[in-house]
Amino acid sequence: MFDKILIANRGEIALRVERACKELGIATVAVHSTADADAMHVRLADESVCIGAAPAKDSYLNIPAIVAACEITGADAVHPGYGFLAENARFAEILEEHELTFIGPSAEHVRLMGDKIRAKETARALGIPVVPGSGPVDDFEEAKAFARDIGYPVLVKAAAGGGGRGMKLALFENELEPALMTARNEAKAAFGDDTVYLEKYLAHPRHIEVQVLADGQGNAIHLGERDCSLQRRHQKLWEEAPSPALNENERIRIGETVAEAMRALNYRGVGTVEFLYEGGEFYFIEMNTRLQVEHTVTEMITGLDLVIEQIRIAAGAPLSLRQEDVRFNGHSIECRINAENPHTFRPSPGTITHFHTPGGLGVRVDSGAYAGYTIPPYYDSLIGKLIVHARTRNECLMRLKRALGEFVVDGIETTIPLFTSLISEPDIVDGNYDIHWLENHLAKLGTRG
Ligand code: ADP
Repeated sequence: MFDKILIANRGEIALRVERACKELGIATVAVHSTADADAMHVRLADESVCIGAAPAKDSYLNIPAIVAACEITGADAVHPGYGFLAENARFAEILEEHELTFIGPSAEHVRLMGDKIRAKETARALGIPVVPGSGPVDDFEEAKAFARDIGYPVLVKAAAGGGGRGMKLALFENELEPALMTARNEAKAAFGDDTVYLEKYLAHPRHIEVQVLADGQGNAIHLGERDCSLQRRHQKLWEEAPSPALNENERIRIGETVAEAMRALNYRGVGTVEFLYEGGEFYFIEMNTRLQVEHTVTEMITGLDLVIEQIRIAAGAPLSLRQEDVRFNGHSIECRINAENPHTFRPSPGTITHFHTPGGLGVRVDSGAYAGYTIPPYYDSLIGKLIVHARTRNECLMRLKRALGEFVVDGIETTIPLFTSLISEPDIVDGNYDIHWLENHLAKLGTRG
């Protein structure tokens, strides 16, 4: 087992990883930018190293500074969290070159799944159903022919995509050329790679993803699914497990298909295979080769600590459980508490004057925020996650309502009022929503929020 782990991240996820390390008796090193010197992940770590200036490219994405921080502190492994360097294959290789363990999949798998076109080809070859789509499209004529073939509307997507960037919809043929150009420009700016492809646009799907755990020694299991259909601008805001839309047969079928594919790939670590689900069919869109923000709801219904599992696997241990040992228990919902105006979603950085988190049975808050903390303007606006767990979905909704009522964050604006209005919406109570539901209802929710 490792003696010391460096956590190459910030905020709630850095804290989340520190907690797992502490429970394993492993020392922790926090890294931080000059803007994060007072952050909770720095305060609670055993040691900390300042790795650069506030902009992420100078600190949390600064690979030489992170490697140097490992050398100075004697860390033997690095946990990347999510975002920043978590899906950077070159980072994983550089760590290996320095005899440091990257707590994650092999660089080869990170690279493979980071290219969405290759990821889809791989998924198809492994027997996973995929969304109909093209390979890389170089020119308009080629795109036009392909779109006529699969039928409009089509979505132009970036091969290197992430966070909904480089994604543009073309409802009709006259919208295809501008969509291609915008997607390409956005992709170039965001990822330095303007490769795009086309995908059939599904009108009313749900976003359902399967959590996998594999040891790179031929063992792979699934930990059920999460429903992340409540999104704004392709960003998830509310996630739940299990999905209110699946029955037991569908759950087992897709879970087993994914686990089998991960075995064939000899995948190592945690991963999430994302699908759109429409008309009783699953369509693969991408795989994330890292821990996800919403891993918590899976933890609540399985009782497993995914970060502890990740660390054990990275240290060379085989999976600690078999598929038949996984027990799904109750229902869990996560709400992303963002420092944003709940109507306009404009970021609201600033100083938190009062901070009181809810408690009680089945309530979990993962957050690095505290009273007096100043949220810096440089990073994403997620300041915490409220996760509730109960025996049934209805009990879970009541518990969520109760917990939201206890949550006090003063001094800045947050998305808490949005969730408070969401839980009394009949469609949400009935679990009757798709990926467009939230955007279609925001105006109405806004008048109440
Ligand atoms: P990113 O990696 O940028 O987040 P994804 O491929 O994971 O992109 O897609 C993000 C979201 O965009 C999905 O959850 C879904 O809401 C929407 N989306 C993606 N592909 C399609 C599609 N083919 N049809 C309809 N919606 C889609």
